[in-house]
Amino acid sequence: MFYWVLVTTIVFSLIFLNFYSRIFSAGIPEESSSKPGEGGSAKMIKSDEEWKKFLTKEQYEVMRQKGTEPAFSGQYHDFKKPGIFACSACGNELFSSQAKFDSGTGWPSFWSPITAKSIITRPDKSFGMERIEVLCSRCDGHLGHVFEDGPPPTGLRYCINSVALRFIKEN
Ligand SMILES: [Zn+2]
Repeated sequence: MFYWVLVTTIVFSLIFLNFYSRIFSAGIPEESSSKPGEGGSAKMIKSDEEWKKFLTKEQYEVMRQKGTEPAFSGQYHDFKKPGIFACSACGNELFSSQAKFDSGTGWPSFWSPITAKSIITRPDKSFGMERIEVLCSRCDGHLGHVFEDGPPPTGLRYCINSVALRFIKEN
């Protein structure tokens, strides 16, 4: 009897250890490369009610409810001044005018964020489409989507809502 209890305990311990080592070996790389809010700035976390008061109606609809502003309606789609585009909700620096290009889509378009850690991307299967959503890494605000039909050097097109951006003029 004692023998069987011992064998069962050992077998279960081995299964448990194996399971754990799999979790750890598979989990760490993904976590460290895509952990939000690592850009040196602390996360900005607010409740939905707080965001509603903090943002304009247009910002709230796009950034917290993942809406899209009408094409050619925003202030930055045809804007060519040199500077930085920051998150309009939290001030996190997101895109440089150096990576901005005229996509003709009616939304400000960039081929790269200012740093990889400025934004977070995640799959978005809403409206029956397979898209990649782009969010601010500091406040998790929805910014737009990224597509693979952009210009060199990245071939990416970050299609961003003007209302989610605030331009900071270059000094
Ligand atoms: Zn933000």
